[in-house]
Amino acid sequence: MIHVILKKGKEKAVLHKHPWVFSGAIDSVKGKPANGEIVKLIDAKGAFMAYGFYNAQSRVALRLLEWNEDVIIDETWWRKKVAVAVAARSAILEAGKTDTCRLIFSESDYLPGLIVDKYAHHLSLQILTSGIENIKPVIIDELQKLLNPASIFDRSDASSREHEGMAPSFGILAGSQPPELVEVVENGIKYGINIAEGQKSGFYCDQRDNRSIVASYAKGKRVLDCFSYTGGFTLNAFSQSARSVTSVDSSDLAIETLKSNLALNGFAAAEHRAIRSDVNKQLRQFREDEETFDIIILDPPKYAPSRSALDRAARAYKDLNRLAMLILEPGGLLATYSCSGAMDMTTFKQILAWAALDAGKEVQFIHQFCQPADHPVRASFPEGEYLKGLLCRVL
Ligand code: SAH
Repeated sequence: MIHVILKKGKEKAVLHKHPWVFSGAIDSVKGKPANGEIVKLIDAKGAFMAYGFYNAQSRVALRLLEWNEDVIIDETWWRKKVAVAVAARSAILEAGKTDTCRLIFSESDYLPGLIVDKYAHHLSLQILTSGIENIKPVIIDELQKLLNPASIFDRSDASSREHEGMAPSFGILAGSQPPELVEVVENGIKYGINIAEGQKSGFYCDQRDNRSIVASYAKGKRVLDCFSYTGGFTLNAFSQSARSVTSVDSSDLAIETLKSNLALNGFAAAEHRAIRSDVNKQLRQFREDEETFDIIILDPPKYAPSRSALDRAARAYKDLNRLAMLILEPGGLLATYSCSGAMDMTTFKQILAWAALDAGKEVQFIHQFCQPADHPVRASFPEGEYLKGLLCRVL
């Protein structure tokens, strides 16, 4: 096995079981590992540190898998990691109200670069590292053994594969082509999921718990669901007897699917308004029209893809939240999210405080949101924590 020697002074993160070794922390490589090949990480004194897979192109040159030298990373090892992750989701699925969730969440499930989502009897798979790409057949086989899915669809079409020197990969991997809209249930609400063309892997199942928490305040209220996508928050609000819901999203496909989801659940279209528009523009329009709401949801896409983008993102989050606060009824609720990993909760609260100050409002934080149990955060990998949100009462 090829040895990769770590620079002196870079041991701490590895000893703390962090799964990433950046190329700058590597002193030398004894040999020429292929991309994705499993190598041994050795410290400057020659002692074993961990096993991981190597990629010469990636900034994260080494993704660590195992810290015990006696353990062999073979097919059985991979199959076990997949099985443990899948078994951990049983509580979410067995309650019977939800048949869609994330089954495997990359580093957080000790499988760096592998994401698997379940949509009823169909699976969507995304591979972002060459190490996982190398064992793709084993992963597919194990998923079939464990779940016997109707299909496994490859959504490895993310541009981030380029960092590992891999071309996009897209299409059916096992079973038969899934229908254009796969029907799933989440919190007892039905959705049609477009596995092949939907955003991300088709659905944002990371908001499952948060949707029902926000909806618990919705009875009799006028709700504005911004960045609605296919209607996660909209449908949950209707399920809890919201008086009306307005959904805003810039994507035609999202709005179209949202409308069909409303019909699927038998919610009255008369109390719903769908607006295909830019949220920032639309919020200004509501202000001009003096239209107000009792509850506003802001679930924007990632504004800060990296730490260096944080300052700019902070200004965008502030402006967005300020605009929403201006069209809330006194005492109204703002449910606001950030899915930028680089943004922490403390900074997010500060941004909300600034937005309130600028809007001339007082804000009480009445609930803190996070990602659900199928998106675990590993203590040794805080980078896995990306979704945060605040429920604010705006006075
Ligand atoms: N709340 C959704 C998920 C939101 S994902 C749910 O519960 O499922 C972010 C959404 O924002 C996407 O649907 C995307 O189309 C939309 N979007 C991105 N930028 C936008 C903008 N400037 N104005 C309106 N919608 C936007």
